[in-house]
Amino acid sequence: MSKISFSLFLAVIVLVCNNVEAQPLKLRPDAFPPVDDAKDAKSIQMATSVEQMASWDRYPTYGTYVAMMEQWANQYPELCNLDTIGESVNGRLILCMHIQGARDVPEAAQAPEFFYSSTMHGDEVTGYVMMLRLIDTLLRGYGNNPQYTNLVDNVAIYINPLSNPDGTYRGGNNSIYGAMRYNANYVDLNRNYPDPFGTQPLSEQQPENTAMIAYLNKHQFRLSANLHGGSEVMNYPWDSFTSYERPHPDRQWWIDVCKRFVDTSRMYSQSHFRDVNSVGYIEGGDWYVIPNGRQDYVNYYHNCHEMTMEISTDKTIDSELLPEYWRFLQHSFVNYIEEIFSVPSTAGIENAAATALDVFPNPAGDRLFVRGDYDGELRLYDVRGRELPIVKSGANCIDLSGLSRGLYLLRAGAQTAKIVKR
Ligand SMILES: [Zn+2]
Repeated sequence: MSKISFSLFLAVIVLVCNNVEAQPLKLRPDAFPPVDDAKDAKSIQMATSVEQMASWDRYPTYGTYVAMMEQWANQYPELCNLDTIGESVNGRLILCMHIQGARDVPEAAQAPEFFYSSTMHGDEVTGYVMMLRLIDTLLRGYGNNPQYTNLVDNVAIYINPLSNPDGTYRGGNNSIYGAMRYNANYVDLNRNYPDPFGTQPLSEQQPENTAMIAYLNKHQFRLSANLHGGSEVMNYPWDSFTSYERPHPDRQWWIDVCKRFVDTSRMYSQSHFRDVNSVGYIEGGDWYVIPNGRQDYVNYYHNCHEMTMEISTDKTIDSELLPEYWRFLQHSFVNYIEEIFSVPSTAGIENAAATALDVFPNPAGDRLFVRGDYDGELRLYDVRGRELPIVKSGANCIDLSGLSRGLYLLRAGAQTAKIVKR
């Protein structure tokens, strides 16, 4: 290497190092690109039949997964039924198991709805198998285990083990080799939800998320969790802001819930939930701010308390490690469903009255009145974040007759109101 090229080489090194230093240090491990070929061929075992899932130390092929869900629905028709949330870009099914006992009593319709959803990032597959095993555990335990029986009788439990099947089975239905974070259109589904705070416009809504939003609209989930991998930390809302900028109104409740989850898991394994911080939980934005994520969308638009559970530092753990992860997580997963009875009864949207737009009646019929002064022009958005024209029928009255039933957001400057159109 000549002197000149050596100094050039040095300059490049300096530049590269400076560049690295200029990056934010709080990189979210979850945001790392997928490493497709890092897996040793011996570490991933696939189950090509339902029977091969008996020890829970394999990943199911797509066919085995669908067969498992169908088998449970057939085996326990009085306890569960299988919903199809929708289809992926490539036509794979996005399935959800609805588990609920004591369906014939009048109170059944009043049972609060709980939702677990996993693997919207297709290569973060630990939660996928954990959720399948949770379905199995609740169904088998009903009538034997008092805690499971009580939960299944009093909560409408919905479990969606795989919300991005095209990402998980990118390499074909028979293997999770080559699994990727994105859907088949190479879109990150966790950056593809309407942003309630309007910081980022939404790119084209992906079919997986459109189906999920329709499913969320059909239900009134009160508590939910969204399972990921790449780290081990409980992450509560908001993702769009740091807790200093905009704390969630129920921040202390979230901290208590996260602490209970982590403490329980540490009774079975001391070594987990330590790669981000020592407590094992963090407010999303304090870790890393993201726009257009599912967590903020669900909390804000659906009045549902949803958190993100990052449950394994390795996104695609060796299949033989799956039982170990279940061992230290299973009680926390079940106890988290029980937290539905402790969800604060506040609307949970905003605590600062100053940012609330005063509207009535709400839910509204054809007319909605805005009370008092508000700053700036009124703007109306649908649940997908699209702005709609406002039809006025008086100085402070908006005509909603052209809108279909559902949730809308009315905004004036920094003031907002979530409106339910009847
Ligand atoms: Zn993820």
